[in-house]
Amino acid sequence: MVQIRSVGIIGAGQMGSGIAHVCALGGYDVLLHDVSADRIKASLAQIERNMSSQVGRGLIDEEAMKNGLARIKPAEELQQIGKADLAIEAATEDEEVKKTIFKALAPHLGPDTLLASNTSSISITRLASATDRPERFIGLHFMNPVPLMKLVEIIRGIATDAATYETAVGFAKSLGKTTANAEDFPAFIVNRILVPMINEAIYTLYEGVGTVEAIDTAMKLGANHPMGPLELGDFIGLDTVLSIMNVLYEGLADSKYRPCPLLVKYVEAGWLGRKAGRGFYDYRGDQPVPTR
Ligand code: NAD
Repeated sequence: MVQIRSVGIIGAGQMGSGIAHVCALGGYDVLLHDVSADRIKASLAQIERNMSSQVGRGLIDEEAMKNGLARIKPAEELQQIGKADLAIEAATEDEEVKKTIFKALAPHLGPDTLLASNTSSISITRLASATDRPERFIGLHFMNPVPLMKLVEIIRGIATDAATYETAVGFAKSLGKTTANAEDFPAFIVNRILVPMINEAIYTLYEGVGTVEAIDTAMKLGANHPMGPLELGDFIGLDTVLSIMNVLYEGLADSKYRPCPLLVKYVEAGWLGRKAGRGFYDYRGDQPVPTR
């Protein structure tokens, strides 16, 4: 089994930042890559804010934060990720984007480097086939927000070997996470169940059954969900929600997974949720305000 000491992360958005955060606190050296130096900088600033808030809540101490931040190094060139023992891709939920990254990375990898994708829905077997090492490729699906959420879903592609699986499970556990195995079918377990519910909530809004507030209040107080489904869609990112619905719709060829036209409209408008400042709620003021 490969000994993981360093982790390279490709895509420094919400998830890449969270994965870098937990890996650094877990004692791993982290290389963080995105399409521009500015994005990496923004991610590092976000990680610092998030760690500060953990210090404020007494979850970690100042020393752990200082050491954690020192372990994360920006990697402006993708090839720098090749130095890591494990590379985790956490870029935009788009199959072509992910395949292009893996193809570009391949020549820079050591022979034993393990590859993982944090994809929410795309076939691990298909992504693995874009690499030179499908047997050392695995799905490591962290949940958002990574520092808080306990689960990592583990998805083996058809070729993933036993050593890669054992190493991946050990790695997730070393970060304090609990793992659940999912077979490599569209959207795996969590998002196969969760995302159609969010899509259905958007249909409920689209058909005028309830307002944004009524739908979220109903599901929070009526089903005991900690967040309403529209609030949750905004939190995940509506582009990601739409991509997952498209993967389910195309991958399972069942009309019950058709994305709601209102979801498509929000994504076309660039109203992608929290990360864009606006989605089913407008987050630009002190309090979120429903946009419908
Ligand atoms: P995001 O939009 O916050 O971040 C994506 C990042 O990828 C951006 O910073 C973007 O610049 C970068 N990127 C795009 N193309 C790239 C390239 N060619 N090279 C390097 N970086 C590139 O999205 P996110 O929410 O962090 O999602 C990232 C991945 O994690 C997706 O596969 C998503 O499905 C998955 N995921 C998301 C959630 C969630 O709740 N948002 C949960 C689990 C998994």
